[in-house]
Amino acid sequence: MKLAMIGFGQAGGKILDKFLEYDERTGSNIVRAAVAVNTAKADLMGLKRVPKENRVLIGQARVKGHGVGADNELGAEIAEEDMDEVQGAIDSIPVHEVDAFLVISGLGGGTGSGGAPVLAKHLKRIYTEPVYGLGVLPSQDEGGIYTLNAARSFQTFVREVDNLMVFDNDAWRKTGESMEGGYADINEEIVRRFGILFGAGEISPGGEVGESVVDSSEIINTLSGGGVSTIGYAAEEVQTEKKGLLSRFKGDDDADGIDAANTTNRITSLVRKAALGRLTLPCEIEGAERALLVLSGPPKFLNRKGIERGRKWLEEQTGSMEVRGGDYPVSDSKYVASVVLLSGVTNVPRIKELQQIAIEAQENIEEIQNQSEANLQGLVEDGDDELEPLF
Ligand code: GDP
Repeated sequence: MKLAMIGFGQAGGKILDKFLEYDERTGSNIVRAAVAVNTAKADLMGLKRVPKENRVLIGQARVKGHGVGADNELGAEIAEEDMDEVQGAIDSIPVHEVDAFLVISGLGGGTGSGGAPVLAKHLKRIYTEPVYGLGVLPSQDEGGIYTLNAARSFQTFVREVDNLMVFDNDAWRKTGESMEGGYADINEEIVRRFGILFGAGEISPGGEVGESVVDSSEIINTLSGGGVSTIGYAAEEVQTEKKGLLSRFKGDDDADGIDAANTTNRITSLVRKAALGRLTLPCEIEGAERALLVLSGPPKFLNRKGIERGRKWLEEQTGSMEVRGGDYPVSDSKYVASVVLLSGVTNVPRIKELQQIAIEAQENIEEIQNQSEANLQGLVEDGDDELEPLF
């Protein structure tokens, strides 16, 4: 699947850079265009792979390249004001060659948190291609303002995109590790999952041949209908060398028979591990509206029977009637990996918590506003013509 990726804010830019590195390393060619947008000049300069001409510094008149801190309202305002500059960079993208847009952003900060939903709305107005979001939730120990930003940004972002794929830093942080080192590992995990998922729909013509290759329309159909998505992953190393003498003496049929059963069992257990292990956004998989299962690895370790069993198992576990599955043959890989995309998930504790925070903040805002109006009214009624500062 070919994507135009736009990284908004620092996290967005760094994850986009990682996707480009992944593409380079694996030759998967998912990122057809890469644009990074930020209010902080230093963050844009720190990127390694996003082409210089595709790094867009917005808000120069307001914040002079110094960023917006954690003020996501300012981030949103600047994105609105300077959308023409972002569009200027997007104009250079051969949009007819891409299957979808992917807007990537951390939701806890200021620039991406405020700007990514504004950009998604803009893209949806202009283009017919689907617009997906990859939103990163802050870890709990970052503090209240980050959680509040994420709560508000999440609500807007999920409304503006065709599907919001979520990664929760909180579920992935490791204790005792520096933030930067931690993010490098986390970003690697993010890109590995999304790389296999999107790479699956991108087998070049005349390239690898699998039994039932996933194509981009299956990814798009799984993501259609909106809502929130999460991804699971599991992998196992496999011996790719030719069979030893011993198994040849035993007779090929026999050995192949054992191999086929092993292959099927390996696949079904990898599907379970992926769906029941740590998801990018932890949740109950039961109730997911749609799912897609991708098995990647050397073709001789992939078979239709295993994928079909894995698919059936996912149907039972999710209760969904819309579970797709297929393979992504990668001959030179040493691993068989399973990626499970669960779309339209509803039972997500972290999202419920964020929604609650957003509601409370909303109530508080009203309270503060009501209080201010009452004070104002009181002052006017008192016949004071000079208004005193409220605080
Ligand atoms: P912005 O530049 O104002 O949009 O803010 P940042 O992107 O710097 O930070 C927003 C949030 O993203 C933070 O609260 C962190 O939770 C998260 N974050 C920052 N950098 C990274 C990163 O490299 N990887 C991941 N996974 N999350 C990050």
